[in-house]
Amino acid sequence: MAKDTKTLCKWDKDDIKDDFKELKKIVSTPAFVCKKCCRVAKKEEYLCKPEEL
Ligand SMILES: [Zn+2]
Repeated sequence: MAKDTKTLCKWDKDDIKDDFKELKKIVSTPAFVCKKCCRVAKKEEYLCKPEEL
């Protein structure tokens, strides 16, 4: 589990496959969206260019 230091934006296909349960937790109640990658997360620390939703 080295994903703690990695933003969701940096996850690749293998990360998604390996940690899909964790991914679902991160995106289930989104409060932030990444302006660069269009990803969403409950905490801004998961995104590289977070913007509040
Ligand atoms: Zn991003």
